[in-house]
Amino acid sequence: MSDVKTFRAFCQICQKLELNCTRLLPHMDYSICETCAPQGKNQSISEEEIENKVTARWTDTQVQSLAAYQDSDTFLPFICERGHRLQATNDLLTCDICQFNLTWAYNWTLDWSWKFLEPPAGAGTRAKLPPGGPLKSASIALDLPEPNAGADAEDFVD
Ligand SMILES: [Zn+2]
Ligand SMILES: [Zn+2]
Repeated sequence: MSDVKTFRAFCQICQKLELNCTRLLPHMDYSICETCAPQGKNQSISEEEIENKVTARWTDTQVQSLAAYQDSDTFLPFICERGHRLQATNDLLTCDICQFNLTWAYNWTLDWSWKFLEPPAGAGTRAKLPPGGPLKSASIALDLPEPNAGADAEDFVD
């Protein structure tokens, strides 16, 4: 089995619908075609490389954020291999049609961070954006204040 799957998708580089595209981001429709792939500008990111994954089980609050993220007009939703948008539950992201399950999501899709990254209403229709930085090391260039070190652990103390 090859772990490189190809999809019919819209190539992010040549902006054409191509048959043999590779997803640059796992479980998101952000792809480049085989013609553009050798340019090497966009490296495919594997699940293993992603540091800011939060695995289920998720709290109700996290699920609400994730479900709203999935419905966002701005960002690419998590999808199954056939391109269906996944539904968020406490235990997983799931495609009812394909019985496909995903048990992690980016931390910023779970804590409403993504909401702050949306362009202002009225900015015009635009293509959905990929996550600004799925990797922690290339984290989204936020103008949000950095959380204090260790603050994460205190989130649920109240
Ligand atoms: Zn292309
Ligand atoms: Zn599906």
